[in-house]
Amino acid sequence: MYQIRTVVLLLFLLNSFNNSIAQPKISSKKEIAKLTDNATVYLKSANFEKSLGISKVALRSAIDANDLNAVATSYITIAANYAEMAEFEKAIFFYNKSLSYAKKAANDTLKKKINNNLGNIYCFEKKQYARGIQFYENSLQYSQKLGDTSQTFVTNLNIAWAYFDIGNFEKGYPSLKFINKYNKKYGDETTITAVNMLNGMYHSYKGNHKLATSSFLNAIQSGKGENEKSDLSFSHLEYSKFLSKKGDHKNAYENLLRYNIITEELYNKEKLKKANVAGINLELDEYKRQIDRIETEKEVQLQSLRKSRIIVMLFGVVFVILLLLLYTLFKNNNFKKKANAELSQTNKELIIAKEKAEEASIVKSQFVSTISHELRTPLYGVIGITNMLLDEHKELAGSPYMNSLKFSAKYLLSLVNDILQINKIEDNRLVLENLTFNISDEINMIKNSLIFMAKSNNNILRVTIDPDIPEYLIGDKLRLSQIIMNLVSNALKFTKNGEVQIRILLAKVDCRTNFIEFQIQDNGIGIAAADQEKIFEKFVQVGRKETDYQGTGLGLSIVKQLLGQFKSEITIDSAIGKGTLLKFVIGFEFNTEKTNEIINNIQVDMTSTQPINVLVVEDNHINQIITRKTIEKNNYKCSVVDNGYAALEILEKENFDVILMDINMPLINGFETTRKIRLKGIDIPIVALTAFDKAEITEEALSAGINDIIIKPFDSIKLFEIINILISKN
Ligand code: ADP
Repeated sequence: MYQIRTVVLLLFLLNSFNNSIAQPKISSKKEIAKLTDNATVYLKSANFEKSLGISKVALRSAIDANDLNAVATSYITIAANYAEMAEFEKAIFFYNKSLSYAKKAANDTLKKKINNNLGNIYCFEKKQYARGIQFYENSLQYSQKLGDTSQTFVTNLNIAWAYFDIGNFEKGYPSLKFINKYNKKYGDETTITAVNMLNGMYHSYKGNHKLATSSFLNAIQSGKGENEKSDLSFSHLEYSKFLSKKGDHKNAYENLLRYNIITEELYNKEKLKKANVAGINLELDEYKRQIDRIETEKEVQLQSLRKSRIIVMLFGVVFVILLLLLYTLFKNNNFKKKANAELSQTNKELIIAKEKAEEASIVKSQFVSTISHELRTPLYGVIGITNMLLDEHKELAGSPYMNSLKFSAKYLLSLVNDILQINKIEDNRLVLENLTFNISDEINMIKNSLIFMAKSNNNILRVTIDPDIPEYLIGDKLRLSQIIMNLVSNALKFTKNGEVQIRILLAKVDCRTNFIEFQIQDNGIGIAAADQEKIFEKFVQVGRKETDYQGTGLGLSIVKQLLGQFKSEITIDSAIGKGTLLKFVIGFEFNTEKTNEIINNIQVDMTSTQPINVLVVEDNHINQIITRKTIEKNNYKCSVVDNGYAALEILEKENFDVILMDINMPLINGFETTRKIRLKGIDIPIVALTAFDKAEITEEALSAGINDIIIKPFDSIKLFEIINILISKN
């Protein structure tokens, strides 16, 4: 909108600007020619004032019409007026002006005329013969160029006269010869007296008395009849000089007298003219000033016109630029609109794609957790039964088949657990817990559980713990143990007859945060530089042979992702054949009050020796056997029911200390059964015993009235610990 307004304003400005440059009315060539003709008529009748007045108008019209020839002609008339008024300086000034315009117009006819007239003034009025003759010569050149013999005739007459006047007869002779040759053709009553007189002068110079006498007498004779009185007077003067030279003083005196009389007459006429002129002199000066101004005005006008043109041009350029700008804006806008439409379409598609991806992700998570659950349940059976077999048949302890079975089951279980965990981290469902822990206890526990592995490869496992590390720290000890277990078991796996070191150092303390650096170093096979990044990707195992080490290729990937949760990164320093050093730093909170609070909360009486009555609600028969065996092995009493309804029934008749509830059961699931038990007002502690992931069911379990959750396959010590805590609380 802004641009449009600017353009409109500009157009308006341009309009009004153009209007302000008023154009004068231009006269036609014909009109101007008529004016100059009139001025010449007035000049001939000696009406100089009128002639100059008209000339001024003609000049202005000629300048306005930019008619260079007419300008030159007007100036000639003006100059001629001044020459006639004996104002020779002004006459010369205007002749020069007319000459400059005649040159601009390349008008040889005018140049010829002006040069001749200037020659007349310089020779016969200002008596500057050399300069005057130069003008005559110029005039001659133009006349010859134009083939104007008539003018050539007149100019030659002037040249001859000028040279004779200064006594240079030889130089003037060629001109005299020329005029004598063409006298018949171009001579007339205005020139006849002068021609005869000049011949007389030349013959006198040459001493041809007879010819000189006849020429002078012819001159005087012809001069009497025509208007050129001054020529007649000069004829008498020159004749008188000749007679005097001859010694005829009487006639010489006679002729000199005639000369004086005519000159007197002419002088009187001139005086009259001068008197006339004097009257209008003041006005004449004003005319001159006006005439001067006409040109100056025109020049100023031209300049302002030029400036205006530049301004108009500039406006034009600005206008064009603005138009271009508008066009570009318009194009841009269109482009933007199109791009926006495309973008919103792409956005829509993206949203749909995102929704689909989210759906797919949810489906994937559900799939993974269902599959894991389905796998864990039978694995629980396999591991449990293997343990039972080994317990009951000690002779099988050395059987490689039994060991293989146990190992395979455990391997499968760890694979399922790993996949479940990766899935959880990737879905951002993993939340670190804040538990109080003793770092030495945790590390020793890890060491103890891996000691068997160390021995099998004949490795020494060493632990160094910085004594400056506080006794209790707050953080997710379970995830930390998982990271260290993974790294140390790798180190033990890939090292034979070597040493694996676990070093725990206090890196720095920042307020309440203790930054602990963990180093796991081995002197095993090492990892090639090219593989050091790859090994943290999922399912990557480097140079693994079929019979080699066991593993899923998920361990380091889990480590990396868990460390990401701790906002930490692992660094690796390894060389083939030399070993591997892995390092990472984690900040743990150190807060005595918080620690004490947590410790106090878990102070429970573990000393109960009373026989405990346990009800197991489980649909899977293998699991029923395993759980029953585990419980009875601890000398607790155990009753087992197949489903929720059976549980509700048995609870009507019998008292139990604790209920172990499977969640995924047919007819009525564990949550629903618990809800119904609580509705009956029974507040016996209920522990969910499930293959589901703990975090997945915690919320629903608590809302249903379940007190704790134990994930199958479970650690029996942990189970009894929980049972004892719950019973003592109850
Ligand atoms: P895996 O289950 O195979 O151990 P990981 O993700 O834990 O999977 O390790 C990936 C691979 O990295 C291993 O297969 C092994 O090639 C290499 N690796 C890991 N730790 C070490 C180590 N300490 N020394 C040598 N190689 C190792």
